[in-house]
Amino acid sequence: MPTTPPTTRRQFLFTTTAALAGASLPAFASPPADGPAPTGPDADHVLSLLVEGNKRFASGAITHPRRSPADFKPLAEGQNPIACIITCSDSRVTPEILFDLGIGDLFIVRIAGNYINGAGASVKGSVEYAVAELGVNLLMVLGHSQCGAIKAAIKHLHDKDALPGAINDLVTSIKPAVLESEHLPGDPLENAIRANVRRGVDRLAHLDPIIAPRVKAGQLKVVGATYGLATGQVQLLK
Ligand SMILES: [Zn+2]
Repeated sequence: MPTTPPTTRRQFLFTTTAALAGASLPAFASPPADGPAPTGPDADHVLSLLVEGNKRFASGAITHPRRSPADFKPLAEGQNPIACIITCSDSRVTPEILFDLGIGDLFIVRIAGNYINGAGASVKGSVEYAVAELGVNLLMVLGHSQCGAIKAAIKHLHDKDALPGAINDLVTSIKPAVLESEHLPGDPLENAIRANVRRGVDRLAHLDPIIAPRVKAGQLKVVGATYGLATGQVQLLK
């Protein structure tokens, strides 16, 4: 786990106009040392930044912000990401790039198949750390088209010990999403990808003791989305 400097425990303000332009992110206020638990920018606002950043990326109008020494050197003292993204390990799904953001902007948990249900303490603890210690108010479970882990779950749906090593365990964890969606009209792979994301969102939103109370209080938002490898577009799931 990265260390948490005192600044990440402090409430910070958000420079709306500059952030929307991809120019800069949070500007910090100076709260009392014994101030409240950390809280970052509003979830809806952060979501709008992600949506706008993805529009820039998909249209080829990227600003690739915060990638110079002047940006990353100060971050050695501490991080203040605006969102936590739980996504696939797939090499083609790179959150900072596809949301046109920079170093220090996103706390990312990557695991093949971006599955939450069945995931262990390392995944759940990582997300909880982003919320409780870094003040993140937006969690996004981000699936993607042509996901190999979901394809494997469909292909080996009724097999036992079909895959070597822990790959089989991983794929088995995804199978409920396939079973849940196999009756739906449309493309089975796309349906399973969305079902897997929705299951992850639901699991996270009800995860005690850190996430669920904040969701219930309206402070924390958990959203699901899918990324199109060919289009570059992120679509939010309803
Ligand atoms: Zn994948």
